[in-house]
Amino acid sequence: MRPIQEPTVYLIAKTMLEPEGLEAYLKDIGAPDWKPDSSVSDCENLVEAGGRMCYRSWQPYDPAKPEATNPNVTRVRQGNDTYIENVLKSGHGSVLEHASLTFICRNVSRVFTHELVRHRAGMAYSQESLRYVRLDDIPFWIPDSAAENDRAKNKIVEIVDFLENAQKELGEIFGMDDIADFTTKKQLTSMFRRLAPIGLGTTIMVTGNLRSWRHIIEMRTSSHAEEEIRLVTGKIAAICKKHFPNVFQDMVFDEASGSWTFGHTKV
Ligand SMILES: Cc1cc2nc3c(=O)[nH]c(=O)nc-3n(C[C@H](O)[C@H](O)[C@H](O)COP(=O)(O)OP(=O)(O)OC[C@H]3O[C@@H](n4cnc5c(N)ncnc54)[C@H](O)[C@@H]3O)c2cc1C
Repeated sequence: MRPIQEPTVYLIAKTMLEPEGLEAYLKDIGAPDWKPDSSVSDCENLVEAGGRMCYRSWQPYDPAKPEATNPNVTRVRQGNDTYIENVLKSGHGSVLEHASLTFICRNVSRVFTHELVRHRAGMAYSQESLRYVRLDDIPFWIPDSAAENDRAKNKIVEIVDFLENAQKELGEIFGMDDIADFTTKKQLTSMFRRLAPIGLGTTIMVTGNLRSWRHIIEMRTSSHAEEEIRLVTGKIAAICKKHFPNVFQDMVFDEASGSWTFGHTKV
């Protein structure tokens, strides 16, 4: 067994505005006074633009700008935080789907990845393949619930070592080192992984829109969720809170339960 550190997450990509295109659109509809706020993330400006487009609420009604304004709209909410606050309050969360964040989750187990991929709506995944890898040096993170218990830890190490040896023995049984054909070797290593523990460390890249991330964080940091997914989605939540404070303005960390909770659920 190769002990590894606890899972880590990296925010590696996020939706960006195309300022020229947005400016051209605003000009074509009559150049309303609205502009993206440079102190706010592109993701959050995009959410606001999506909402304002729906109701032509870029600015209060101006008969000179019929395509940009609406006679029913005599006042508009100012500021990205206030605008998004109202989106969250009214539950019109579909505008949050325009912006996506991509994370890499490293040193996570297949326990975690299997739970994560159950989230389908608005999500995309790419997971490290085990079809080519001989699992005779298994990376393994011992969760905190076992880390302080020496007897449990020793048992885990013993079983993982046993499974590693099974991989080696299977390699010998099938004469892996003498097989030249890559496809045959791939088929065999793929078959051997049935004897790998689902706790083995792996990597997954995951993209989700902001609406989906709110839902996943709420479900998976809950005290009812599993230890590892709580840890990883808790780290994702902290990044979201820091980088996208307006979309996550109603999300707070509850010290007592260790969960992130939302003022507005299921937006
Ligand atoms: C504490 C906990 C325990 C769990 N235990 C089990 C278990 O024992 N067995 C098990 O199989 N799973 C279990 N799960 C997984 C759970 O049942 C869901 O599959 C998983 O959390 C994905 O969430 P979601 O269904 O909200 O889907 P997401 O893909 O995250 O979808 C988000 C939302 O979109 C809507 N949506 C998505 N797809 C559809 C659709 N096809 N039709 C209509 N609406 C849709 C729903 O409103 C859904 O809530 C558990 C989850 C948690 C958090």
